[in-house]
Amino acid sequence: MAEQAESHDCIIIGAGPAGLAAAIYASRDRLKTLVLEKFSPGGQISTTDRIENYPGIERIDGPALIEQMQKQASGFAAEIKTGSEVTALEKLADGNIAVSCNKDKYIARAVILAPGSDYRKLGIPGEAEFRNAGAGVSYCGTCDAPFFKDKQVVAIGGGNTAVEETLHLTKFVKKVTLIHRRDEFRATRVLTEELLEKASQPDSNLIIKYNTVATAIEGEGKVQSVKLKNVKTNEQQSYPCDGIFIFVGMVPNTNFLKGFVELTDKGFIKCDCAYLRTNVPGVFAAGDCRIGAAMQLATAVSDGVVAAMMLKQYFRDPGWWNQAVLDIPQASGW
Ligand code: NAP
Repeated sequence: MAEQAESHDCIIIGAGPAGLAAAIYASRDRLKTLVLEKFSPGGQISTTDRIENYPGIERIDGPALIEQMQKQASGFAAEIKTGSEVTALEKLADGNIAVSCNKDKYIARAVILAPGSDYRKLGIPGEAEFRNAGAGVSYCGTCDAPFFKDKQVVAIGGGNTAVEETLHLTKFVKKVTLIHRRDEFRATRVLTEELLEKASQPDSNLIIKYNTVATAIEGEGKVQSVKLKNVKTNEQQSYPCDGIFIFVGMVPNTNFLKGFVELTDKGFIKCDCAYLRTNVPGVFAAGDCRIGAAMQLATAVSDGVVAAMMLKQYFRDPGWWNQAVLDIPQASGW
């Protein structure tokens, strides 16, 4: 494999904000840079219609921001290959890294892992059966809200995504009931206030049910109701609805890395959080996939930048990889 594969200085796995930020920096340093993306660029952010906490940009939607990042990376000659799913990586005897994907095989002097994360599932009966917007189960309000125009839907979760997406749903549906397993939202205060304000209006199409979980999704061919249980009273009810939007967090997309780099038991990539080095020399981790990630757009971008800068340090001095963070007064060279 090593003999025939195309060679690159830097291969970046994932074209979300972390991967694209790394691509901008690496390619601007004239490193031969390849980005491999399973689907299309953007990751989680491509389904966000409102970003207002990215410093310097008052408000933008995810696809617009990603398009700009992509143009910027391509402008510095980074190559971005979509529909390229990485299936395996291997550290070669010469120190390079072999990257196999569904289409091709490549060799890299260094790799930045930025595969992001995927929707967490509830694992309740009916969830897999009705899993598409046509049948009624969705994980993305921004993508699927228009399919539920004038219908009644249930949204599940209490984090930033659940609150933002529920507010988005209120613009389309006849009624949205947000259920949360606790009586306090995890979401940031400003979003929670907006949600509560919306629910408190006399003619609101938003209802909030606290201390409530979904135990099954029911219907014939498509969703017709969801079984709800109050965790305080154990009271159960069958709640009619046309769709269920599940916003209960994310899990890292790191299954393909098992056996190659060290992962936590929840699948996050282990790395030193200063320089983003994994246990495999030349392999960095960036963005939501790594331990300690703040799971924010700005921090994912920051990770991509750090990984691309540190990659140069690794090229200059491969021995740097094994130095403990505390023994490095300042990474040099810029
Ligand atoms: P999250 O912050 O992990 O929140 C997940 C929510 O789902 C929590 O409220 C959790 O309840 C609930 N949950 C988890 N498992 C559940 C289950 N089995 N049944 C019922 N409820 C369950 O996930 P997220 O909202 O997707 O956000 C992911 C990250 O992206 C976060 O760091 C978030 O801040 C960030 N983000 C930021 C923005 C923004 O800043 N504009 C927008 C979107 C996302 P508990 O609270 O009880 O644990």
